[in-house]
Amino acid sequence: VFDLLVVGGGPAGASAAIYSARKGIRTGVVAERFGGQVLDTMGIENFISVKETEGPKLAAALEQHVKTYDVDVMNLQRASALVPGDIIEVKLASGASLKAKSVVLATGARWREMNVPGEKEYRNKGVAYCPHCDGPLFKGKRVAVIGGGNSGVEAAIDLAGIVAHVTLLEFDTKLRADAVLQRKLHSLPNVKVILNAQTTEVTGDGAKVNGLRYKDRSSGEELKVELEGIFVQIGLLPNTDWLKGTVALSNRGEIEVDARGQTSVPGVFAAGDVTTVPYKQIVIAMGEGSKAALSAFDHLIRSSAP
Ligand code: FAD
Repeated sequence: VFDLLVVGGGPAGASAAIYSARKGIRTGVVAERFGGQVLDTMGIENFISVKETEGPKLAAALEQHVKTYDVDVMNLQRASALVPGDIIEVKLASGASLKAKSVVLATGARWREMNVPGEKEYRNKGVAYCPHCDGPLFKGKRVAVIGGGNSGVEAAIDLAGIVAHVTLLEFDTKLRADAVLQRKLHSLPNVKVILNAQTTEVTGDGAKVNGLRYKDRSSGEELKVELEGIFVQIGLLPNTDWLKGTVALSNRGEIEVDARGQTSVPGVFAAGDVTTVPYKQIVIAMGEGSKAALSAFDHLIRSSAP
């Protein structure tokens, strides 16, 4: 039986595991893919105190750091169910099951993709998903934002202050963002909004993005926009399908946590992109992971001798 079992091996999970192991309690990490989203990232310039690094490098460093402690790392294993109780059970897709006195859920999230030709090919070569991360790379260039919900309109406003020009494409006939955001957006001189537009292709020169094609859904006409970057903002999907019905989730499917990372299930804490904590970033996920582990430790010393 683990004192603390961490589910997920991204920045939040790695941080939770290290904080737990440093308390001298029996710690395990089970992860489908150790490193998480960081593995899919190229340049990282906002991991504070490290001016510039690359995703795979940071992921390797996370794993090395975790492995300097006495942590049982179970990589390439997917959790498929959580069974609450005094001893909590985490069932794995392999059929095995793990038992723990406390659990930190850190299964992260994934960006919803447009699923159009060119999107995968030009990922990190002009196709981006995170304005806080990649906005500055497009300084003085032309970009598009796909999606007119709150995150799309916020991204367009944010980017308009950095890039030369922003084209915002929305599939629907109107934007869905809050009115105050829409007013701000429409006040900006270097933003153009195109409604009723279905993005159909990301185009490029083989090395990087040079434009996108979209269909005007009212006329059926195919049109092209020339640009250097595309920010896809059509949703972030938390990896919580396996938790439905056991842990309280928000209407977006995020795990609801309080200020200590406590979920609705006693002894179960959560951290990082999978939770309701706003802003999905590496430094935030790490901070939340350490907080969840400390809360779990606090829970253990109150319920039994760790
Ligand atoms: P994740 O990194 O998503 O890790 C989740 C972990 O859980 C993984 O190990 C996964 O395999 C595992 N998992 C999922 N489901 C299960 C399951 N059922 N059972 C077992 N394991 C499971 N942030 C920045 O701060 N700066 C950047 O420059 C930056 N650039 C980014 C670029 C890209 C392309 C992407 C996609 C994201 C970027 N981010 C950036 C965001 C950052 O990567 C995330 O905020 C961060 O990784 C979240 O950490 P996490 O540990 O919460 O989740």
